[in-house]
Amino acid sequence: MRIVLVGPPGAGKGTQAAFLAKNLSIPHISTGDLFRANISQNTELGQRAKAFMDAGDLVPDEITIGMAKDRMEQPDAANGFLLDGFPRNVSQAEALDAMLTDAGMKLDAVLDLEVEEDEVVKRIAGRRICRNDSAHVFHVSYAPPKTDGVCDTCGGELYQRGDDSEGTVRNRLEVYHTQTEPIIDYYKAQGLLRTISALGDVQDVTQRAMDALKK
Ligand code: AMP
Repeated sequence: MRIVLVGPPGAGKGTQAAFLAKNLSIPHISTGDLFRANISQNTELGQRAKAFMDAGDLVPDEITIGMAKDRMEQPDAANGFLLDGFPRNVSQAEALDAMLTDAGMKLDAVLDLEVEEDEVVKRIAGRRICRNDSAHVFHVSYAPPKTDGVCDTCGGELYQRGDDSEGTVRNRLEVYHTQTEPIIDYYKAQGLLRTISALGDVQDVTQRAMDALKK
């Protein structure tokens, strides 16, 4: 299956993507994770992306689309993938369509995780992420780790993403509304959109997502 996951920052895309990718035996491709890996390895691409990410802005398409395409062309993605955080605007969605059409492929579904803005802000403010694996996500009040600052799953160090600070989150939400939300209509027009509520237990949301994908 070839699936795109959309939803505002803090909807739980990364967490759900990790479970869904495992259930469906397809790679989880997160452009945010790819950028963060490039930044921590201090690559040229990472250096070009960093200032945009720190401000909560989108990294320009000419950097992002090539990086996403390179990743989707890896052998492990030949039979499917779950995209998390890409596309994030209509021109990226069009580039993805063109790339898939050229390869004789198509998307199977676009899963839209719905959650209201107040909830998103609460989720992001308390979010803590493991340095070893960004799918190991905790929350200081909703899902606290057993030991402060330590990942329950692998013992890694938990940290708060720099772009999860309050000012940056506001900009990321604005960017989501103005630039990313239009792709929801784009995919609705193609009959690919499946919208589910992202509220409640992580396992319940995964079940809702699996049910929506089977339809
Ligand atoms: P995420 O981990 O998906 O929340 O992404 C973190 C940041 O990486 C975003 O706020 C953007 O600055 C950048 N980013 C990730 N994916 C994209 C994309 N498809 N297009 C542009 N920028 C992106």
